[in-house]
This record gives sequence, C-alpha cells and structure tokens, in this order.
Amino acid sequence: MTASTAPRQQFASDNLAGICPEALQCLLEANASGHQPAYGDDLWTQKSTDMLRELFQTDCDVYYVFNGTAANSLALASLCQSYHSVICSPVAHIETDECGGPEFFSNGSKLLVAESESSAARLGKLTPDAVEYLVTKRHDIHYPKPKVVSITQATELGTVYTVEEVRAIAAIAKRRHLKLHMDGARFANAVATLEVHPSEITWRAGVDVLCFGGTKNGLPVGEAVVFFDRDLSADFAWRVKQAGQLASKMRFISAPWVGMLEHDTWLRNARHANAMAHRLYQAINAMPGVHVLHPPQANAVFVQLPASSIARMHALGWSFYEFIAGGGCRLMCAWDTQPETVDAFAADLAAACAQAA
Ligand SMILES: *Cc1c(COP(=O)(O)O)cnc(C)c1O
Repeated sequence: MTASTAPRQQFASDNLAGICPEALQCLLEANASGHQPAYGDDLWTQKSTDMLRELFQTDCDVYYVFNGTAANSLALASLCQSYHSVICSPVAHIETDECGGPEFFSNGSKLLVAESESSAARLGKLTPDAVEYLVTKRHDIHYPKPKVVSITQATELGTVYTVEEVRAIAAIAKRRHLKLHMDGARFANAVATLEVHPSEITWRAGVDVLCFGGTKNGLPVGEAVVFFDRDLSADFAWRVKQAGQLASKMRFISAPWVGMLEHDTWLRNARHANAMAHRLYQAINAMPGVHVLHPPQANAVFVQLPASSIARMHALGWSFYEFIAGGGCRLMCAWDTQPETVDAFAADLAAACAQAA
C-alpha cells in the first residue's frame, strides 16, 4: 500500500487503532460456527478463560465486560462496601476519566487521592508512603474507611511500576488490610517493558484483581476482569449483569481474546507499540523547542511543545491530546503504528518547531 492510499494514523490514543489480524481471524471463525450457547456458555469463552489461567499460571476467575470503565468500576465495587474508600493516584483513570463510575457502582465508596510531590508521583505512580499516609491519617467514624489500593500498570503517564514497586505497595496494603486492584488497560505494554512473567507483577506480587485491557492492544472490544483472589468474585456475575455488561453473544468478545493470547500476539503487539514510542522519542527528543517530560517506558511520549507548534501540527491534520494529566501533549502509539507514521510526524514537528523559533 502506498502512503497516499493508506488510511491515516494518529497519536491521540491507542484506541484509535483497528482490530489486529489474529483477533479478527478468531472473530470470523466464531461467526462461522453457526448457533452457539449465549451468555458465556460457549467454547470460545471456555477456551479464552483457560488460556488466561494458563498465562497467569493460576486458577483465577475471569469475567469479560465491554470496556475498561466497567471493568474498573465493577471490580472496585466488589472489593468495597459503600462506606469504604479506594486509594489512588491523582492522575488515575478511575479518578479523572470514568465519570464517577467507581463511586456509582459501589454505591458511594470514595476515591482518596494521594497528593504527593515525590518524583514517583510526577511519573504517575502511587508510593507506599502516600498509601501509608492516607491509611493512617484518620481512624474515626466520620471518614470513609480505606479498603482498596488501586494502581495503573502501565500508568496514565506512560511509566511502568517495577516488580519491586508493586511488591512494596502490596506489602503496605497487606499490613493495612487493603485489597490491591490493578487497572491494566495497558498491562500488555507494561509486561513488554519489564520482560517479566505476567504473574510476577500481579498475583505473585500481591495483586488481588487485574483489569486486563485488550481493546488498546488490538481487540475490537472487551476487557477481562481477572480475580486472583477468587473469594472476591462471589456474585460478580450478577454485578456484571445488573450493570448491563453481560454480552449475550459473549463469544464475539472471547474469541478475539483467543486470537490475542495464541502465540503471544498480545505481547508482540505491545512490544511493537512500545518500540514505536521509543522511535518517536529518539526522533524528537533533541529538537529545539521540544521538551520530553520523561523517557517513555511504555507506548506513550509526553512532551511540552510551543503553542504555535501545536497549532501548526493540528492544522497539518495530526491529532493528539494537549493536556493529559496536567502535563504536556500525549503522543500515544498503537499495535499497528507504522515507523513511517512516526517519521512523518517527527518531520512535520521539526518543521513546525523551526517555524516557531
Ligand atoms: C483507556 C483506559 C481505560 C478504559 O477506558 P474505557 O474507555 O472505559 O475502555 C482504563 N484505564 C486506563 C488507564 C485507560 O487508559
């Protein structure tokens, strides 16, 4: 395909990308198999669930929902009573981008935002100290009782918690009788960066529930809620149904998951997206006027750009978000971002910045 006929790619989000071929193949196969049991009683759902258990090397409970907001909100609701609270970072998606979903589905559990000036906090991460501070700050009956810690892996700022960092937060959580939830909308990108077994940054590190994102990694739709502590998933199926998140034709969510999990496509997609972010970083880091906020650890580059350059880039048809999480512009790479797209963006940016100077 030549550049002029290829559909244009963008850096606004990794959910602008389409379905990866492996997921699409299984979707088509599922569709070719005629009438099948509904509501998850089909073979594809059985298969993808077994594959997730194999992937994590543990007998976890798995549920599929349509999107990440539902995955997070329902997972958190299952860990909390209405008078409880959830400790999270100020830039956490559950705090800034879910329209109060976690509070709504938990009937009022409050999010406790860990404000911090630490360097980790500037990288979008929660720290054990910040958690400890919020758990010990109040014990009286007038304050919602902390019950859960939520971390995002990879974070909203494109950084990644190390195994040690997850373990340290889990240790505080355990000592303070809190459950640990992981928003893994970009879990694949984090695993690709760390090059660890997925169990090492989840249940082996102390994570109780993972919302494993598939959409941004190449699925059409559908996230997996993975309960490593199976006691916590009691009645979760009813919660999913009540929230309108139970797909009757569940196989069209689970079959693409099979395509994604087979031959580690999920990891290959994530590695590619991460590599494209790295390529973009290399291309623009030294440009006059460009200030990269921190080296990318996953599939996003965060940069401050002159206002005139932003306007110029938008005028050239490039879409990206300007103020994400209080920082600069967010340039997000996807499973299918082409090196040529990265290079074309960098060339346009160089010209835009030269004009601005
Ligand atoms: C994209 C994203 C989600 C899920 O968002 P939905 O639009 O509800 O699917 C959750 N957490 C983070 C950190 C995300 O980036």
